[in-house]
Amino acid sequence: MVPRIYSRSEHGISRQSISPGCLKVLYGLIDAGFEAYIVGGGVRDLLLGLKPKDFDIATNATPDQIRSTFRNSRIIGRRFRIVHVHFGREIIEVSTFRAAHNVDNVAMVDDEVLSRADAKLDSVRATSGLILRDNVYGTIEEDVQRRDFTVNALYYTVKNFVVHDYVDGMADIDRRCLRMIGDPTERYREDPVRVLRAIRLAAKLDFSITRETAAPLATCAKLLESIPPARLFDEFLKLFLSGNSLQTYRLLRRHDVFQHLFPQTWIAMQSNTAYSDRLLEAAFTNTDARLSEGKTITPVFLLAVLLWPALLENLRGKGAGLASIADTQEAGQQVIDYQVQRLAIPKRFSFPVREIWELQQKFADRRGKRAELLASHKRFRAAFDFLLLREQCGEDLQGLGEWWSLYQQAQPEQRNAMVTALQQPSAIPHAKSRRRKVKSNRTQLTPT
Ligand code: ATP
Ligand code: MG
Repeated sequence: MVPRIYSRSEHGISRQSISPGCLKVLYGLIDAGFEAYIVGGGVRDLLLGLKPKDFDIATNATPDQIRSTFRNSRIIGRRFRIVHVHFGREIIEVSTFRAAHNVDNVAMVDDEVLSRADAKLDSVRATSGLILRDNVYGTIEEDVQRRDFTVNALYYTVKNFVVHDYVDGMADIDRRCLRMIGDPTERYREDPVRVLRAIRLAAKLDFSITRETAAPLATCAKLLESIPPARLFDEFLKLFLSGNSLQTYRLLRRHDVFQHLFPQTWIAMQSNTAYSDRLLEAAFTNTDARLSEGKTITPVFLLAVLLWPALLENLRGKGAGLASIADTQEAGQQVIDYQVQRLAIPKRFSFPVREIWELQQKFADRRGKRAELLASHKRFRAAFDFLLLREQCGEDLQGLGEWWSLYQQAQPEQRNAMVTALQQPSAIPHAKSRRRKVKSNRTQLTPT
């Protein structure tokens, strides 16, 4: 196979835009007698005039050879062995050219999980098509065929500063489209995470997805169920915390992929579409804005929003329109327990998500010292933002958001007065006031 070669004047990539660590690895490998190329997002983003997030290098050196060329390196991964070369905080990922899977080099197994007996095999595939291990090395021509989209399969070398293009990737950069290399359905079967990569990259680059590449997305998305929840959680972070979450969400919905990541939310949305959609879109808009202002974000708030429709649906299922704190805690636990079977949300995130939900409930009950205690809760800020978001999206919370805004700005004496003002009903005869007290513990957790 003969690649098209693009010279420096044609591709316009300058060495200045490549990180010093990456250049060291490229020259180090070449000096040791190996071939070495920047490939993937690094080349793609440079061609598009974007700043690459990281640089990936492909080489004909094996992991052991890479390891002995760079003292500051480590071999990582089992399913897909690669080498990390460390330069301070920068990590350059170096992978050896992969060979095509064929009858001679691949072991087939029925299960989608490797057993101990398979531990020594270098290349394993499940009968479903899923690639379970991918450590048979090959040539650059074979490596090209193993990459996902044509625009991710452009190889740049510092030997003579040219780009090697085997798949017309350069033309797709100009057309701004994602085109799967090979048969799209087969490639999604080999690795269903490619379904998410198509959507993530289309959103990030503002690229279209070609018709053939987009067509199987909806059916292949179901295969995400065979992906370990820990890997899916990593993908979730990349999908929603990279600054393009709104567009990502819209594409996930458009291509019927969303329901495979958040099945409970999706079911809830069937009966509460407008409110849930507004809520999610508003949260994504805020997240993207925060990131573009350089502010930090955590997945906690987004997860609290993404699963909120599911929480409401769960409470509705319990017949708990007026939910108590105990109801909310139980529902929250159930929603999370179910969700972690799909996305392995670590406890350090799921715990605060549940706190944010519980605080929604507590915002209504401000008697005595409760308001003061609540305002000093470490999750208060996030929970308050969440409360405002709910109101903004059309929930009638009877002025709770405004009350809490004023409370936060008020001096201590004013705060006391605000709380006392709420307690006027205690002038009502005893029996009634007790009934009111019980009721005030309960909040309407259903959007209007
Ligand atoms: P990003 O901008 O997010 O880094 P990227 O395309 O560089 O995007 P990486 O995860 O860094 O994504 O992967 C680097 C390259 O490795 C890709 O461009 C692609 O060539 C290849 N690659 C990564 N994941 C897959 C996959 N699941 N299937 C096939 N090729 C893949
Ligand atoms: Mg990359």
